Amino acid sequence: RRAAYAALRDKPAVSRDDVRVELMVNAGLRDDVAALDVTGADGIGLFRTEFQFLVSATLPQRERQQRLYKDVLDAAGNRPVVFRTVDIGGDKALPYLNKSDMDEEENPAMGWRAVRLALERDGLMKAQARALLEAAAGRTLHVMFPMISEPWELAQCKALFKNQHDWLAKRDRKLPKAVQYGTMLEVPALAETLDFILPELDFLSIGTNDLTQFLFAADRANPKLAERYDWLSVAIMRFLSRIVRTCAEHEVPVGVCGEMGGRTLEAMALLGIGIRRLSITPASIGPVKAMIRSVDVAALSAYCAELMNGRVANFREPLAQWARENDV
Ligand code: PEP
Ligand code: MG
Repeated sequence: RRAAYAALRDKPAVSRDDVRVELMVNAGLRDDVAALDVTGADGIGLFRTEFQFLVSATLPQRERQQRLYKDVLDAAGNRPVVFRTVDIGGDKALPYLNKSDMDEEENPAMGWRAVRLALERDGLMKAQARALLEAAAGRTLHVMFPMISEPWELAQCKALFKNQHDWLAKRDRKLPKAVQYGTMLEVPALAETLDFILPELDFLSIGTNDLTQFLFAADRANPKLAERYDWLSVAIMRFLSRIVRTCAEHEVPVGVCGEMGGRTLEAMALLGIGIRRLSITPASIGPVKAMIRSVDVAALSAYCAELMNGRVANFREPLAQWARENDV
């Protein structure tokens, strides 16, 4: 099997009826970039910049951040890299950062994390913005913000980046050719304000790990709950399907970067509701590409629409059967 997946490395992720899917990998460390060549992925759809902070004994200074980002961009060549600004705080507490603020939360996943922290301790975010802008000099910078819950948070993040951009421009520093802004959709409330935020965005990326944790009110780190709820529940599928439809209306590309997209059947369901961009763990690229190449997306979409409107509380069984019947 592994050999069969390796043979797919240079084949495109195109369905039987010619639908092209962008397959990207999730990464976080310098060495993860090697996965691009190993898997033949189209780029890095989620670079978790907090990894550098988490493995470091002291706060990584701007120069060190910038070096990492540039190394990653150099290694990726002309393949896009989507850098997510730090998602620290909550359970990803950093010993060197305001410990007293951080260790008293009862619900860290819903706590002072990601942009909630970064916009308040904005020295951190400014340094990261400059590191990213300078590292991407001469190229397109793709940046995205985690845990955005309200439109004003996105506005503040973008304004912060634009200020840093202006600051660098005034000093005649070399700048990115373009900056593409995106946000994670992982807080359910944001789905109700898509009409506000989509005009401000170049792309949207659905983080199904946090999103499902919040939709089901089920801690993603609690093993007692790990098997209880299903990504293929109609609740999730309907929720995602509405987001995809709204993004299409606004002509903003939307992808999924949570672990859900790395499971073959889940990835198939996502294709069936219109997702055309997945960022997944490198080991999943082969199996997911094999699935894409064997499926007829038009037939799959029709079947998913039927399930969506029927009285099916969970897509798993019917989809698995459909896949068997259709040689996927
Ligand atoms: C997510 O929440 O789905 C996601 C991709 O981000 P993380 O797993 O880093 O929280
Ligand atoms: Mg998340």
